[in-house]
Amino acid sequence: MTTAHEVHLVRRPHGFPDTDDFALVERELPDPGPGEAVVANRAFSVDPYMRGRMNDVPSYVPPFRLDAAMDGRSVGEVTAVGPDVSEVAVGDLVLGNLAWRDHGIAKAKHLQQVPDVEGVDPRAYLGVLGVPGLTAWVGLLDKAAFREGDAVFVSGAAGAVGSLVGQIAKQKGASLVVGSAGSADKVAWLTGELGYDAAFNYKDGPVGEQLEKAMPDGLDVYFDNVGSDHLEAAIAVANDHARIAACGAIAHYNDTDDDPTPGPRNLFKIVKKRLSIQGFIVSDSLDRFGPFLEEVTPWVRDGRVRFAETVVEGVDHAVEAFQGLLRGENTGKMLVAV
Ligand code: NDP
Repeated sequence: MTTAHEVHLVRRPHGFPDTDDFALVERELPDPGPGEAVVANRAFSVDPYMRGRMNDVPSYVPPFRLDAAMDGRSVGEVTAVGPDVSEVAVGDLVLGNLAWRDHGIAKAKHLQQVPDVEGVDPRAYLGVLGVPGLTAWVGLLDKAAFREGDAVFVSGAAGAVGSLVGQIAKQKGASLVVGSAGSADKVAWLTGELGYDAAFNYKDGPVGEQLEKAMPDGLDVYFDNVGSDHLEAAIAVANDHARIAACGAIAHYNDTDDDPTPGPRNLFKIVKKRLSIQGFIVSDSLDRFGPFLEEVTPWVRDGRVRFAETVVEGVDHAVEAFQGLLRGENTGKMLVAV
């Protein structure tokens, strides 16, 4: 028997998630049944999309159930296996969907072995070499159809996805890479360690004015993680035939029906400038994981692509990690270490 601690959603948040919307629950895990494995987590991911899953509305993934453990990407060690398990063995390091808990049981066929690559920490497969990395790569190259010489703007640029987008664009020959983020430290990180050509703090003044100053010759690609004022500014500054990858809209995630964050007011410019806007969900592109890892793993290993993690310790602090993510307390990937 294993004692597990897991975070349950006990009430659907209204606006910004409240600590009382969640509960830490202790329970004894049963012995693994046929085809099952017990995993002791080392770390798990908290992600912005989880906010959407806390609402009881139809979406591309089902909502989290109340009074049940939530899920999400995790990395951990197999500690026990049930009968008829051939996919994993005790001691294996595996990726799974066992976030928001310290121990969990999963079907072994739903666990993946962590690639054993020298110089790469297993935790990287939750961030730079995991779903956020794939999102950046697929969004920029497949969805925004990036071409050498493009001028690229990325919002949410110091986050897990955004911090990679600009670096991938640089590797692929962008003429200019500009990012926006929510603090002076993040701006310094972007233009220093990550090699962005320019960056600005969107809290310092209107996004439209700051973006126009940073990109006087316009943008060819906008990677949108934010929506709202950022999307409006990007449409305003876009060159004719520019492409927009609509990846996320975090400025809207805590909206309530009675107090929605304003959207762009200049949509007719999409027509005049013949812009393309491509929304996408990364889970539709899982077949691109192989090519993504093949290209980006060497860049990570030799330091051409840098990444950061903000790590909160303990499943009992997972809710704070999630709230911190929504407030911008992370640089790079927000993780909970167990
Ligand atoms: P991040 O690591 O970027 O964390 C979220 C960041 O958003 C915070 O650090 C904060 O940084 C910023 N933020 C919060 N509120 C606002 C606001 N009102 N305006 C501007 N910025 C804000 O998360 P991810 O990299 O995991 O995700 C980035 C985006 O990509 C999200 O929108 C997410 O939903 C989306 N996504 C989409 C996927 C898809 O398949 N389409 C897959 C994965 C992610 P700051 O300090 O700069 O404010």
